[in-house]
Amino acid sequence: MTKIKSICVYCGASDDVLPGYIKLAEELGRDLAKRDIRLVYGGGGVGLMGACARAAHEAAGDVLGIMPRFLLSKERIYEDVEHRIVDDMHTRKQMMYEESDAFIVLPGGIGTLEEAVEILSWARLGLHAKPMAFLDEDGFWSPFFELMEHIIDGKFTPESFRASLVHSDTPKKAIDALMDKVIVLDS
Ligand code: AMP
Repeated sequence: MTKIKSICVYCGASDDVLPGYIKLAEELGRDLAKRDIRLVYGGGGVGLMGACARAAHEAAGDVLGIMPRFLLSKERIYEDVEHRIVDDMHTRKQMMYEESDAFIVLPGGIGTLEEAVEILSWARLGLHAKPMAFLDEDGFWSPFFELMEHIIDGKFTPESFRASLVHSDTPKKAIDALMDKVIVLDS
């Protein structure tokens, strides 16, 4: 029997983005709550991060935010949910990884990309088998998928890695795709 209990969401911290991205983050937060899946995220109250966490919390979902001390005021920690304050970025990323069974990547900037690629690279090294889905409605992540095809065509990454690259256009499809792939032993 497999079940996802926690999903880590990586996403942008900017508020200055198209409203559709904020809406998608809210939809994802609500869907996670509805399916009784805990949201693990970077702890901020800004951008897609804040939108997703507030929506999950308002829909009575479990949320865990993990924030490095130096970003507390910049990313305006969302204090209404369980949160942990850690010393640095590496601790934050490690804790987000350990607390989650799977990952969803919403539109975001360099921080989002860095977090997602690190998890993919750990999967490539065989360090874990936790699945990841990229979620957008407008093909935001398509250039990343094109880059991965380019890398696979150049034989820098094997064709088999394609199976790790999931691209979904609704929260439901993203969560369902992760459910199909995850291997978690029920406690
Ligand atoms: P961005 O996608 O650039 O808006 O960043 C999204 C989130 O990723 C923000 O909470 C950043 O603090 C976080 N972030 C950026 N770089 C890193 C990093 N190297 N390690 C962990 N989190 C990061």
